[in-house]
Amino acid sequence: VGDSKDYDSEVDSICPFCGVGCQVSLKVKDGRVKYVDGINGPANEGRLCVKGRFGFDYIHHDHRLTKPLIRRDDAPAKGLNVDPDNWQEVFREATWDEALDFAAKGMKGRGREVAGFGSAKCTNEEAYLFQKIIRQGFGHNNVDHCTRLCHASSVAALLENVGSGAVTATFNEIENADVAIVIGANPVENHPVAATYFKQFAKRGGKLIVMDPRGVGLRRHASHMLQFRPGADVSMLNAIMHVIVEEGLYDKQYIDAYTENWEAEKAHLADFTPEKMSKICGIEPEVLRDVARTFAGAKAAMIFWGMGVSQHIHGTDNSRCLISLALMTGQIGRPGSGLHPLRGQNNVQGASDAGLIPMFLPDYQSVTDDGVRSAFTSVWGSDDFSAEKGLTVTEILDAVHDGDIKSMYILGENPAMSDPDVEHARDALAKLDHLVVQDIFLTETANFADVILPASAFAEKSGTVTNTNRQVQMGRPAVPPPGDAKEDWWIEVELAKRLGLGWDYADPAEVFAEMKQNMPSLDNITWDRLMAENVVTYPSLSPEDPGQAIVFGDGFPRADGRAKFTPASIIAPDETPDDEYPMILITGRQLEHWHTGSMTRRATVLDAMEPEANCSLHPSTLRKLGVEPGGLLRLTTRRGSIRVMARSDRAVAPDMVFLPFAYVEAAANILTNPAVDPYGKIPEFKFSAVKVEVVEKT
Ligand code: SF4
Repeated sequence: VGDSKDYDSEVDSICPFCGVGCQVSLKVKDGRVKYVDGINGPANEGRLCVKGRFGFDYIHHDHRLTKPLIRRDDAPAKGLNVDPDNWQEVFREATWDEALDFAAKGMKGRGREVAGFGSAKCTNEEAYLFQKIIRQGFGHNNVDHCTRLCHASSVAALLENVGSGAVTATFNEIENADVAIVIGANPVENHPVAATYFKQFAKRGGKLIVMDPRGVGLRRHASHMLQFRPGADVSMLNAIMHVIVEEGLYDKQYIDAYTENWEAEKAHLADFTPEKMSKICGIEPEVLRDVARTFAGAKAAMIFWGMGVSQHIHGTDNSRCLISLALMTGQIGRPGSGLHPLRGQNNVQGASDAGLIPMFLPDYQSVTDDGVRSAFTSVWGSDDFSAEKGLTVTEILDAVHDGDIKSMYILGENPAMSDPDVEHARDALAKLDHLVVQDIFLTETANFADVILPASAFAEKSGTVTNTNRQVQMGRPAVPPPGDAKEDWWIEVELAKRLGLGWDYADPAEVFAEMKQNMPSLDNITWDRLMAENVVTYPSLSPEDPGQAIVFGDGFPRADGRAKFTPASIIAPDETPDDEYPMILITGRQLEHWHTGSMTRRATVLDAMEPEANCSLHPSTLRKLGVEPGGLLRLTTRRGSIRVMARSDRAVAPDMVFLPFAYVEAAANILTNPAVDPYGKIPEFKFSAVKVEVVEKT
C-alpha cells in the first residue's frame, strides 16, 4: 500500500475476479496500474483478498493481444498448438476493418449454423449486446455462457420455487443471523472477502454449519462440520427436514401464508429417516438431528451454497432441498434470513440478468412468450426471432460435432479449458469452419480461431457489473487498452454493423438506457446515478432508494404470490467408483487462481504463489500409494488421463482426489464427466470415477 506520492491518478472500479464484487481504487502511474486498494463498497467495506490486491498486473502482461489477428493460409491444422511468444507461425496481423469484415463474412446469413458464447467476465452492457447480436442477427437463441457450468441448476430451482433466480438476501446479512449453513462451497478460497464476514459471524457466537465432502477452510470456525459423502446431498438434507417435520419444528404460520405443496413435501420426507439416510450420506443420525434442531430453532438463519451443490446431475434437486428447508422454517424475507447461492464470476449474475441464456431474454423473460419477444423486437426495430429455447453450452458443442453448427462467436469464454470432457470440446472447436474469438489473451480457445479480436481488460473500460448480492456497480477505465485493442462493446457494435444490424450506440451508457426499457429490475437505476453513487442494489424502489438487501418479506414473484415446495428424491451420480476407477474426482478452484487461469497465471504474485499444477489426496491415501507429497501421479477417468503433482491434505477424504482446473498442462476437464442435470443442463464436475497411479514417488 502506498501513499499519494506513489501515483499520478486513482480510479474507482470493481475487482474482476469473483462474484463478491469488491470495490477497488486503481492507482495509476506512468500509464500503468501500480497497485490496488480496497474501498468502501457495500460488499467489501475496504477489504480485498490476495487476488483483488495483487492479481491485477496481468493487464500489462507481454501476452496481451494488441492487434487483430487472422489465421494464416499456411497455418498448421487447428489444435492446441500456438506458442503465445511465437504466434506468427499461425496468425498474421490485420487491420480492424479487415478483421471485422472477415469475422462478419464467416457468420452473415448463416442463421442456425452460427452460435455464440458470451462471458460473465464482461460488463452488463457487453453481455446484453452479445445476446442481441445472436437473436437479432441470426434469428435464434443459441447463445449461452458460463452460468451453464456453475449455478444454472440453482437458478432453475430458484425460478421454479421462489420465482426469482437471484439471492433473497445479501451475504452481509449474515451479521443479523444467529445460524448459517454453508454447503458445497469453499468461500475461504473462492469468495474470500465474503468468508471474512462468515468468520466474524462465528466469532461473535453465530452457529456456522458447514457441509461439504471436503473439510473446507471454514471448518475451523464451524459449530458443526458435516463431511458427507460426495453426491449424497439430497439424502442428508431430506433427513434434516424429516427431523424438522417429525419433531414439529416447522413454521406452520409461514407455510400457510406463503407456500404451496407442503403436504406433498411432508409426505415425501416421511421415508428419509436419519437412521436410513446416515448409511448413504455418512453423517451420524444424532448429528443430523442436532443440525435440524439448531437450524429450525434459529431466530434468523441463512443458507449459502456453491458449486458443490450445483455441479451434479441432481444439482437442481440439491437446490430444491435447500429452498424447502428455508421455506419450512420461514427463513426468508427477514433480516438475517435468506437463500444465497454464492455466484462465481464477477458478473455471472449480471450476464444472466442481461439475457446471455438460451431460454431467457433479459430479466429471465421467456423466449417462448410472444409478447416478450415482441417487446424486445419493437425496441430493437427488428423482425421476430425464434420462439424455440436455444441450445446450451454443451449442446452447442455437440451440435458442432453433428455438423449443425459451423460458425461460432466466442467472447471471453474459454471452452477449450472449461468444458467437461474437454477433448470433445477442443475437437468441436477444431471442426468449426469459422471461429471468431474476442479476448485479451491468446487463450486455449483462441488457438482454434480463424480471427481474433483484441479486447479490453476491466481496468480499461466503462461498464456496469452485478455481483452475487444483486448490487449493480460501476466499473471505470483507469488506463487505455494496449496497442490497437478496443473496448468490447465497440467491437460488438462494429461487428453488428457489418452483419447489417444498423446499430448506432455512442457509448455503454446508451446501451444501459436501452436495457432499462425491457428490464424492470433496473427500475430507478440509471447510468448517471451509478456514476454518482457507484452502486445500487436491485430492486430499488425509488430514485433515492439504495436498493433492497432483503426481498420476499411479503410474498413471492410467482403467479399466486406463494413459493413452492418441490420434493427431491435420491439420484445417484452418473458414474460411481468401480474396480477399474475406484476413487472419486472432484474439481474446483484454488485461492490464487481463478477459473481457467488465463488472467491469474499471468499475474506475477499469484503465479509465484501457485506456479504448478497439483492435486490433493489424504495423507493415508498417499502412504498407501507409496508416494510422497511432490511426487507425480497419473489420474485416469473414462475420458482421458493427465499427470499432476501430488499434495497431502487431511481435508480430503481418503477415497477422493481434489483437482484444481486452472492448469492447461494438467487440464482437469480432460477427466470430467459431461453428464448433465436435466433441468439446469449443468455438467457433473463434482463427481467422476478416477484411477490414481504413481509415476514418480518423490
Ligand atoms: Fe476480488 Fe473476490 Fe477477492 Fe473481492 S473476494 S478481492 S471480488 S477475488
